Amino acid sequence: MSPRNEPSFRESVDLMFNRAVALMDLPPGLEEKIRVCNATYTVRFGVRLRGQIQTFVGYRSVHSEHMEPVKGGIRYAPSVNQDEVEALAALMTYKCALVEAPFGGSKGGLCIDPRQYDEHELEQITRRFAYELAKRDLIHPSQNVPAPDMGTGEREMAWIADQYMRMNTTDINGRACVTGKPINAGGIQGRTEATGRGVQYALREFFRDTRGMEKAGMTGSLDGKRVIVQGLGNVGFHAAKFLAEEDGSKIIGIIERDGGIYSADGLDVEGVRNWIVKHGGVTGFPDATHVEDGAVLLEEECDILIPAALEGVINLGNAERIKAPLIIEAANGPVTAGADEVLRKKGCIIIPDMYANAGGVTVSYFEWVKNLSHIRFGRMQRRQEEARHQLVIDELQRLDDYLGDKWSMSPDFKDKYLRGAGELELVRSGLDDTMRIAYQSMRDVWHDRADIEDLRTAAYIVSIEKVAASYRAKGL
Ligand code: GLU
Repeated sequence: MSPRNEPSFRESVDLMFNRAVALMDLPPGLEEKIRVCNATYTVRFGVRLRGQIQTFVGYRSVHSEHMEPVKGGIRYAPSVNQDEVEALAALMTYKCALVEAPFGGSKGGLCIDPRQYDEHELEQITRRFAYELAKRDLIHPSQNVPAPDMGTGEREMAWIADQYMRMNTTDINGRACVTGKPINAGGIQGRTEATGRGVQYALREFFRDTRGMEKAGMTGSLDGKRVIVQGLGNVGFHAAKFLAEEDGSKIIGIIERDGGIYSADGLDVEGVRNWIVKHGGVTGFPDATHVEDGAVLLEEECDILIPAALEGVINLGNAERIKAPLIIEAANGPVTAGADEVLRKKGCIIIPDMYANAGGVTVSYFEWVKNLSHIRFGRMQRRQEEARHQLVIDELQRLDDYLGDKWSMSPDFKDKYLRGAGELELVRSGLDDTMRIAYQSMRDVWHDRADIEDLRTAAYIVSIEKVAASYRAKGL
C-alpha cells in the first residue's frame, strides 16, 4: 500500500490533472470548474438482517454533468470512502470524454464486504441502496446510470434495474437505468468481458504504434511477451485469458489476495481461475512457484505489467524497483502520482487507466443505446447481409466450378464470409474501433508535442479539451 506521505487517491488524480492543464490554454476558472467534483451524496440506511438492524454507508458522487446522464460503476468493498468515490468519478468523466461515450462522470460505492453476506441478504441490501439512490434520481436512465465495478456484477445490476422499474412502473426506458445487466434482463452480449477485451485491444493498438514501441524500447508483437497480472477478477482474468489464447502472450505471474504465483513457462489462466474458485486463492496451484507477499511479483522482470486490482499498488514504496518497460492500468489509479513520476523518469511507458480500462463503459454505452432503442443490435440487417453475401458466394462458386483444379475457394472462406454480424460481433467491432480511435487521439498529442512526455498527460489533454468544448457550447 501507499506510504503515508503520499497524497490520497483523489489528490493523486488532481495532481495528474494539474500537470495536463498546465500545458493547456484554458480560459481562467474553467480548469477549476472541470477539476472539482460537482456533488457527492452520502446515504446511511438500515436493513434488518439476522434479527437486527444493520446500518450501511454508501455514496454516489457526480463529478461532471457537462453531459447527461452521468455514468460510472458501483463498487462494493469495505474500504470504500468519499475520497475514493470522488477520484473514481473524476476518472469516469475523463474516460467517457476520451472514448467519446456521451456521458458525464459518476461513481458509487457501498462500504461492505460482500463475502460476509449470502445472496438473499445482498439482494436486500442492494435493493435498499438502489431505492435510496433512485428516489433522488441518482439512478435514472437520463440522469445517472450505474454499472458494475469491484465487488458487483450482473446479478446486482439486475436487482438495481428491477428496483428502479418497481418504483417507476410506467417508464418505458426503465431498463436503461443501469448497465452491465444479464442478457435476459436487458443486457448486451460482450459486456461481462468488455473491460478485459478493451485492455487487449488497447495493447494491440499500442503494438501498432512504432514510435510508442520505440519509446518503450520494445520490438515485435504480443506473441511471446511475458506478462504479469495483478488481480484475477473480471478484468484481469479476461485480459490475461485473451492475451494468452489469442495473441500468444505468456502469463508468467499472477498476483492475488493470498500471494502470487510464477512460472517462466507461462500459467494456464483458466486453470488458475478455476483453482481460485475452488480453493479461495492461488496458494497450492500446481507447477508454479508461490510467493506469500504477492506484491514482490510486481517487481519481477517481464515485458508487460497489468495491475488489475486496487488503486495505489504501485507507489513511492516500490516504483523504483519496477522493471517492466510497459504498464497497462487495467485497474483505476493503480499508480500514484509520485510513482508515475519515478516511472516516467525511468523511461517506463504507462498506458493510463482512463484509456486502458474504458472498454467497460464503452460497451455499457452500447447497452444503454440498445435499451433505449428497444431492439437487439443486428436484428434488422443480419439476414439481409447474409443474403447479399450469398450472391457473391454463388458467383465465386461458378468460377470455382469453371476453373476446376486451377483455383478454388479457401476451405473456411464460405462459412466465415456468409455469416452476418450478430450482436456480439457488432459489440466487438464497436469496441475495437473505439479503442483504436481513442489511442490514436492520445498518441498524436504524445508524439507531436515535444512538451508532452507521457500518454497519461496526452490522455488528460484530449479529454479535458472535450469537456471544455462542452462547457463552451453551453455558454459557460
Ligand atoms: N465500473 C466501470 C469503470 O470504472 C464501468 C463503468 C460503466 O460501465 O459505466 O469504468
